Amino acid sequence: MERLVRSCYRQGGYVFAKKAGGSAHGAGSDRIARLASNENPEAPSPAAVAAAQQAVLTANRYPDERVDVLVAALRAYYGDYTFVTGVGMDGVIETLMRTLVDPGETVAISAPTFSFYGLAAQAQGAKVVPVPRRADFSVDTDALVRVGKAAKIVVLCTPNNPTGNATSADDVQRVLDEIKGVLFLDNAYVEFSGIDYLPLLRKYENLVIGRTFSKVHSLAGLRIGYAFVPAWLQPFYMRAGTPFTMNSVSAAAAAAALSDKEHAARYITQVQVWRKRFSAALKFPVLPSDANFVMVDVAPHTGDEVVEKLAARGVLVRSCRSFTGLADHYIRVSVGEDWENELFIRELNAL
Ligand SMILES: *Cc1c(COP(=O)(O)O)cnc(C)c1O
Repeated sequence: MERLVRSCYRQGGYVFAKKAGGSAHGAGSDRIARLASNENPEAPSPAAVAAAQQAVLTANRYPDERVDVLVAALRAYYGDYTFVTGVGMDGVIETLMRTLVDPGETVAISAPTFSFYGLAAQAQGAKVVPVPRRADFSVDTDALVRVGKAAKIVVLCTPNNPTGNATSADDVQRVLDEIKGVLFLDNAYVEFSGIDYLPLLRKYENLVIGRTFSKVHSLAGLRIGYAFVPAWLQPFYMRAGTPFTMNSVSAAAAAAALSDKEHAARYITQVQVWRKRFSAALKFPVLPSDANFVMVDVAPHTGDEVVEKLAARGVLVRSCRSFTGLADHYIRVSVGEDWENELFIRELNAL
């Protein structure tokens, strides 16, 4: 019966990071260091938890389809922008592709990068064209423009997952100046970078900036994403999306999380401290990072080997092998709590 499944789903699919409890129960590791998914290790803000508890009391009712509570909180926080929301930023990406891409149209993706853009584009019948970054993983803007000129959507992740480096606002502007379709800028990690891309929204009508509550805001389990969009796009995005995608509990939690600036600031400080310590302490080359993770070149080992060995010692990190266009000797490691980061350094250096 598998022949009935669409060809784009018969192989491949999203590759998930290793879970705690899988093969990670080796030599005396009573605690597992979870450094594979770029989550904030701290529990959600108490304000977010309280808001979620309150919201669940009225979960017999359908949520507000316009997600006013969250959109109002975003506007109070960022200013007078147009927002859309989704089930994680992954949900935003999926709906954006559905809104804009007809079968056969091109989606150009600066690569290696997060895999879900390509999967979501393929599901719409798009022609996916990866545009390779340079050897140092900086964006080749000329190449991206060349391919991007014929694309409906150009995708650029900054800071980039898994390489960690950011692209300057000037380079982003260079791409925006040349393309005719939409630029989707994935800013899942922008809070850790100190770069502000929002001024570009005032100048360009074809810029969409995706964000998430899964990383700095400690709400990965509630699946909350959003995007800054040009005003013309918002009603069509609403039309293309599944009705009521954002549940009322997640919306309430996210709105409250925005008000707890200290919660986010604590983790941002932790990240700034540990990015430097990773670079200084590891025996392997650490790539410069503007995100809450670092990519480490573990050659002559492969990423897969190192992930297995560290998991047996109670440390979960991500192999970068599944990122198309990247060599097989990299791992990606999130900044976690002090003890997790220390254990990782000790175990990697002991390989
Ligand atoms: C984590 C991540 C996302 C989205 O995460 P959600 O949990 O779906 O909000 C999007 N893009 C990149 C690059 C990510 O790393």
